[in-house]
Amino acid sequence: MAHQLTLLPGDGIGPEVTEATLQVIEAAGVDIDWDRHRVIGANAVERGRPALPSDIVDSIQERGTALKGPVTTPVGQGFTSVNVQLRQRLDLYSNVRPATSLEGLDTPFDDVDLIIFRENTEGLYSGIEYYDERLDIADSIARVTKRGAERIIRFCFEYAQAHGREHVTLAHKANILKKTSGLFLDIGRDLAAEYPDIEFEDSIIDNLCMQLVTNPENYDCIVSTNLFGDILSDLTAGLVGGLGVTPGANIGDELAVFEAVHGSAPDIAGQNVANPTAMTRTAAMMLQHIGEDEAAAAIEQSLFAMYRDGDTLTQDVGGDASTSEFADALSDRV
Ligand code: NAD
Repeated sequence: MAHQLTLLPGDGIGPEVTEATLQVIEAAGVDIDWDRHRVIGANAVERGRPALPSDIVDSIQERGTALKGPVTTPVGQGFTSVNVQLRQRLDLYSNVRPATSLEGLDTPFDDVDLIIFRENTEGLYSGIEYYDERLDIADSIARVTKRGAERIIRFCFEYAQAHGREHVTLAHKANILKKTSGLFLDIGRDLAAEYPDIEFEDSIIDNLCMQLVTNPENYDCIVSTNLFGDILSDLTAGLVGGLGVTPGANIGDELAVFEAVHGSAPDIAGQNVANPTAMTRTAAMMLQHIGEDEAAAAIEQSLFAMYRDGDTLTQDVGGDASTSEFADALSDRV
């Protein structure tokens, strides 16, 4: 029977990489009945609708799992990020962003294999912001709750245990942000005691950034609050070939929305040059989540083989293939 899933192609390069990914999923033989929603973000606002229309939220709540392309968020003014809204409204508290070296890609390191676990619903993205016009002062509040910290840190440990990973690093700035980062760190230390087989350490975020760009092979699972996790995952994407190759997932207790780390890339949108690898690997994570392990593995192995052979790669990773040529070549291999 066909899986019933929600599809949000998004905007910018979203529709291009989504089409490529659907072609690959089909080639892998997985039957999916998609509930497609193209009206989201600026598209929706132009039509007088909220940036995140309620039929999208309803569809994901009903179907449980979605594949999502990037959605542009206006800088400064304008509507609240659809991405942040979706993660908060659906309570998708774990943002899982793996960064793995791809054999065949010319990158400064060839043995990176780590995962960022980013708290996805609170911290500096809580949406508690003020501008006081009399005093010309702006405040953005970082809210960390005990419940919020506990569930993402536990998710990270549970994931590590289930996937044979041995090391968890908690990234923080508790020397300066004594309340928010301090609470996150205290809870991490308490929970670590429940997982004696997993090595635990904490690391101050600025030092961790330096360590990651010099010795990334020393890291395995890294858990952090929302903003630090967001920045760390772009940094670690840069270690393994960039945003074009890095997948991601937003996971809650009931629902999951799978989306790559990258944004809508307006600089290359509509040119058929975007790299669909990140979105395709994101789809592989989704297929695993819905029990299609064989298809997920077939897609990943075919991708790895394509990178090893070095043919039909897109411009961002040194090739000259278009998005659609990449999708055709990968579909033929799967
Ligand atoms: P971006 O990820 O869109 O682009 C950063 C750089 O990476 C650009 O040079 C782009 O061309 C390149 N890049 C990204 N994905 C690529 C791909 N698949 N193939 C080849 N090159 C790729 O980041 P940005 O420019 O900071 O953001 C653009 C818009 O996307 C903003 O409105 C931002 O808010 C939004 N955004 C959305 C999401 C999401 O929907 N989950 C995530 C991040 C950013």
